[in-house]
Amino acid sequence: MTPLIQAHDLNRSFTVNAGMMKPRQTLHAVNGVTLQLQRGEVLGIVGESGCGKSTLARMLLGLTPASSGTIEIDGQDIARLDRRELTRRVQPVFQDPYSSLNPRKSITSIVSFPLEVHGIGTATERRAKAIEMLERVGLPARYADSSPGQLSGGQRQRVAIARALVMNPEIVICDEPTSALDVSVQAQILNLLMELRQEFDLTYVFISHNLAVVQHIATHVAVMYLGRIVETAPTATLFEHPRHPYTQALLASVLTPETGLGIPDMGLGLSFPDPLHPPSGCPFHPRCKHRMEVCDSQRPLLEDDSSGLPGEVACHLYVPATQHENALS
Ligand code: SF4
Repeated sequence: MTPLIQAHDLNRSFTVNAGMMKPRQTLHAVNGVTLQLQRGEVLGIVGESGCGKSTLARMLLGLTPASSGTIEIDGQDIARLDRRELTRRVQPVFQDPYSSLNPRKSITSIVSFPLEVHGIGTATERRAKAIEMLERVGLPARYADSSPGQLSGGQRQRVAIARALVMNPEIVICDEPTSALDVSVQAQILNLLMELRQEFDLTYVFISHNLAVVQHIATHVAVMYLGRIVETAPTATLFEHPRHPYTQALLASVLTPETGLGIPDMGLGLSFPDPLHPPSGCPFHPRCKHRMEVCDSQRPLLEDDSSGLPGEVACHLYVPATQHENALS
């Protein structure tokens, strides 16, 4: 079956200023990412700030072009899709609902705007559809002419979700959609997203630094580190049998959450490495307590291991380096 979303060997680099009198440098934000998602699945993408997950989200939305590699939706390369067609099929929900909503517009205007852009319906029909969507996400009609500034953070995120769904998309890319909200509101928004997935037959890519949130909503998880996927597996497998030492450290961090501070210190020794100067070999090796000699020089590939568990892992503990050499020769 053709996956609904398929990314193959996706790369995105940026040229950055390294400082006064220093040559410009290349930051590899997304590095060789390959993933697949079937219709109705929820792919959780987790990792620390700066691991490339938000750049990947923007690439899947067509907002940041790939330096190389391809993204296909239903077998069609998005680089060849008309922009309007892409936005009809793929919609975002971002972290900060306030900055993504025009403060001078009513929420009904905001939600109906995509319909206007695509020339769908009359003004009256668009307003009726927007109010219907707002009610579906839990905002009664009495809020219809409110501005975003009159709403709470959770209500604003409901508006952003209504706007994303008003065009009846197939795919929603959620980039940290609950991390700016109070903990009590986070659960409400997550539950709403899960209900809407069933009702509208949606497929989600769900980006988060919070593994507990991803465990709640995702069917599959990809763990990113320094622009690469280091482990991917069905959610239950990943949480019950984490293989990559970085995934194990992330899971340990769930036990000691520090709200608003991202992933806490996981006892990994060194802090997150400078993405401009990634370590040689396995990029995780300076922080890894299982580090072997081979890890300093050879980067492990993301592969099936011999455990029989579903999913793939990029670690020499599971796929010996000699196998990589064979695979690369
Ligand atoms: Fe650790 Fe080596 Fe595995 Fe990298 S390849 S995670 S350094 S054991």
